[in-house]
Amino acid sequence: MAHLKPVLAGNWKMNQGPTAVNAYLDAFLAAHAARTDRTVIMFPPALTLATVRSRLKERPDIRVGVQNVHTEEKGAFTGENSALIAADAGAHFVLVGHSERRHVFGETDVESAKKCAKVVEHGMVPVLCVGETIEQREHGDTEQVVLHQLRTGLSMLDHEAVRGVIVAYEPVWAIGTGRTATPDDASTVHRVIRAALVELVGDGARDIPILYGGSVTATNVKALLAADEVDGVLVGGACLDPASWATICGA
Ligand code: PEP
Repeated sequence: MAHLKPVLAGNWKMNQGPTAVNAYLDAFLAAHAARTDRTVIMFPPALTLATVRSRLKERPDIRVGVQNVHTEEKGAFTGENSALIAADAGAHFVLVGHSERRHVFGETDVESAKKCAKVVEHGMVPVLCVGETIEQREHGDTEQVVLHQLRTGLSMLDHEAVRGVIVAYEPVWAIGTGRTATPDDASTVHRVIRAALVELVGDGARDIPILYGGSVTATNVKALLAADEVDGVLVGGACLDPASWATICGA
């Protein structure tokens, strides 16, 4: 069981536009009353962020973020989102290095580091995602892969900034597959991440939330949240159903 306030984060990926989001939020907000003992964060598509923010005016307990930013903050990068613009649009959190960014779009560890630095520069919190593929796990490389992604991803931040990040351990083999890591699997890697964070910035690292992500559902969330060093969850598929998401946020 973690000592931190749990963080429940929902990554909508490329789902729910400004029209669909109204019915979704009607259902979710009716089912989830504001609570001060947890942090709920939603990551809608950037094009839906303004609508979500205006719907959440009366619900400051729910925070919002974007799913990605470019390494540069402005210029000739057609189609990209910048940290400068995300902050201006009201984002407080940014997913960095999500496995789909790494494995579908080829994002490197160094790009993740640059993105974390930009996100911090603009006063937002990076949620740095790390995780191994099934081949890397079967080869016994989980720890090495995760630590390399973690250390490189945080390498452009000073100690104070590192203490302000959120880390998400998301094994690639568990994302969108229905195959969840066991609470013990999650704890094993979370302990390794915690030790590396403490080594990097000292005892303040004990207050950095480490989330688990990968096929979290309304059914398995409680067991995962009860696991040692699991401070919250990052949820994809199950956050798209308002009833499941409300159950997860109430777990
Ligand atoms: C994710 O996209 O971060 C994720 C964990 O997805 P899912 O919950 O669908 O596995």
